[in-house]
Amino acid sequence: MKKIIGLLIISIILSANVHAEKPIDEKVNFLPEGDRAEYLFDRGLGYYNLNQYSNALEFLKQASNIYTNKDDKPNMARCYNNIGNIYNKLSIFNKAMKYHLLSLELEEELNEKEGIISSLNNIGNVLRNIDEFDQALGYYQKALNLSYEIQDNKSIAITLNNIGNIYLSQENYENALNFYNRSLILKKELKDDFGIATSYNNIGISYQGLGSTTKALENYSISLDMMKKLNNGDGIASSYFHIGITYYEKNNVNKASYNLEKALAYAQNYDNRQIMISCYKILAEIYSKQRNYLKAYLAMKLYAQIKDDLVSVQTQKAVTELQIRYETEKKEKEIELLKTNASITDYQSKENEMFMIILVIILIAVAVLGFFFYFQFRQKAHSNKTIEEQNTKLTEAYNKMEVLAKTDILTGLSNRRDMYQKIKHETDRFERNEKPFAILMGDIDNFKKINDTYGHDAGDHVLTSIASVMISTVRKQDIVGRWGGEEFLLLLPETNLDGGKKIAEKLRVKIKNESMHYKNHVLNVTITIGVSVYNRIHDVNESIKKADKAMYLGKIRNKNCVVISDKV
Ligand code: GH3
Ligand code: MG
Ligand code: MG
Repeated sequence: MKKIIGLLIISIILSANVHAEKPIDEKVNFLPEGDRAEYLFDRGLGYYNLNQYSNALEFLKQASNIYTNKDDKPNMARCYNNIGNIYNKLSIFNKAMKYHLLSLELEEELNEKEGIISSLNNIGNVLRNIDEFDQALGYYQKALNLSYEIQDNKSIAITLNNIGNIYLSQENYENALNFYNRSLILKKELKDDFGIATSYNNIGISYQGLGSTTKALENYSISLDMMKKLNNGDGIASSYFHIGITYYEKNNVNKASYNLEKALAYAQNYDNRQIMISCYKILAEIYSKQRNYLKAYLAMKLYAQIKDDLVSVQTQKAVTELQIRYETEKKEKEIELLKTNASITDYQSKENEMFMIILVIILIAVAVLGFFFYFQFRQKAHSNKTIEEQNTKLTEAYNKMEVLAKTDILTGLSNRRDMYQKIKHETDRFERNEKPFAILMGDIDNFKKINDTYGHDAGDHVLTSIASVMISTVRKQDIVGRWGGEEFLLLLPETNLDGGKKIAEKLRVKIKNESMHYKNHVLNVTITIGVSVYNRIHDVNESIKKADKAMYLGKIRNKNCVVISDKV
C-alpha cells in the first residue's frame, strides 16, 4: 500500500513537472498569461534568428503550451509553424513535418488562408530538403492555387520562387527561369527590393545553367546594384561571386579575378565563409594560370586553412546540430517516458483500485455468505433446539399421559387399567417363581352417607386419606389401586391367604382408628375388605371376583371386617 501511495506521489510530481513551465525569469511569472505567452514567443523567435535553435524551441514550446491551455488556435498555429521551421533547420524532418501538419490542421480549422498557404509552403520546403521534389511540388501547387484564390501576391511570389527552387535543384533551368521570372514580376509590384534582388540572382543562375552567360551576367549585375543599395553584404558578395564564376567559365580570367576578389572582400567583411572558400579556390586556379604562383600559393594556403576552419566549423556545426537533435529527442523521449510512467502508474493505481474493489466485493460476498450460513446454522440450531425441546416436551407430555393413563387423579393410586397390567405382571412372575400373591378388595362403608352429609368434597377427602393410609401401611413391593368409586384393590406379592388376611386386618384397624378431619368435622370411616389368593388353580379374574365376593359378604356381616374367600 505504501508502495502504491509512493508511486502515486511520484507520478503526480512527474506529471506536474511535465506540464510545468520552466521559469524564465522572475518578471515573466508576474505577467498575465497572454502577455507571458507573447513574451515567450518573441524570445523564441529571437533565438531562432540567432540560430540558437535549442533555446528557440524551448521558448516556443512554452508559448505554445500557454496558447494550447487558452485554446488560442491562431497563436498555436503560429508557434507550430515556427517550431516546424526550426526542426527543418535542424534537419529533424519528421518533427518538422509533424508541426507543419499540426499548424496546417489548425489553419484549415480556422479557415485562415494565409496561414494555410504558409504551412503548405513550409511542408514543401521540408519535402524539398529530403529530395521529395514531386511531393514538394504538390504542396507548392496547392499553396499557389490558394494564393491565386485569395489574390495574395506576396504569397504567390513566395510560392513561385519556391517552385523555381525545386526546378533549379532538378537542374530544370528552363522551368526554374519561368517561375523565378513570374515571382520577380510580382515582387516588383510589391516593391519588395530584397526579393527582387534575390530573384535577379536566381534568374542569373538559371541562365548560367542554360549556358546564357550574357543574360546571366545582366541579371547578376542588376542584383548586385540592388544589393549595394540595400547594403546587403551577403547579397553583394553572392552577386560578385556569380559574376566572377561566369567570367571564369568564359575564360576571362582578369574579370573573373576582379569580381572574385570583390566577392572575397565582402565575404571576409561579412564572415561569409562559404563564399570565401569558393573564391580562394577559384582564385588559386586563376593565379596559377596567370603564373602568379606566390599569389596562387597564398590563395591555396588560405583556401586550405579556411576549408579546415570551415570543415571544423561545419563539423562543429554538425556536432552542435547533432547534439541539439540528441538533446531535443532525449528531452522528448524523457517527456514521453514520464508520460508513460505516469500512465503506467496511473494504470497500476487503476489496477490496484480495481483489485481493491474486487477484494472488497469478495469480502462483502464472503461476509454476506458467512452471515447467511451463520444465520442458517443459527436457524437450524434454533430449530434443532426447538425440536429437541418440543421432543422433550412431547416426551414429558407422553410420559405424563402415560402416568395419567395409569393413575387415578384424585388419589394418585394406580387406576383400574394399570391394575390389570400389574395383575398380569404378577401372574407372569408367579409363572417364574410359583409364589402366590394375595388380592385384597376394600370398599368404604356407608360412603354415600358421607357424601350426602358433608358433601362430595368431604367424600373426596376421605378417599385420599384412605389411599394415604393404605400406601403407608403396606410394603414397598405391594401395589395399591383404586378399583372403582370407593373401592380399592391391593396386590401383595409373594403373600398367601393368611398373610393377606393379616395385612387386610391391619388396614381395617388403621382406617377405623384414623381421625379424618374435614373442615370442623371429624369423620369416622370404616372399610370392609375381602381377601383371596392367586395360585394358578383359578383364573386371576376369578381370584378378583372371589375377593369381591368375600368383601360383599363382609358388608352383609355388618361391615368393618375382613373376610377371606375360602370361607365365603
Ligand atoms: P355400603 O356400605 O353398602 O358400601 O354403602 P355405600 O353407601 O358405601 O355404598 P353405595 O354403593 O350405596 O354408595 C357408594 C357411593 O359412593 C355412591 C357414589 O356417589 C359415591 N362415590 C363413588 N365414587 C365417589 C367419589 O369419587 N367421590 C365421592 N365423594 N363419592 C363417590
Ligand atoms: Mg361400593
Ligand atoms: Mg361402600
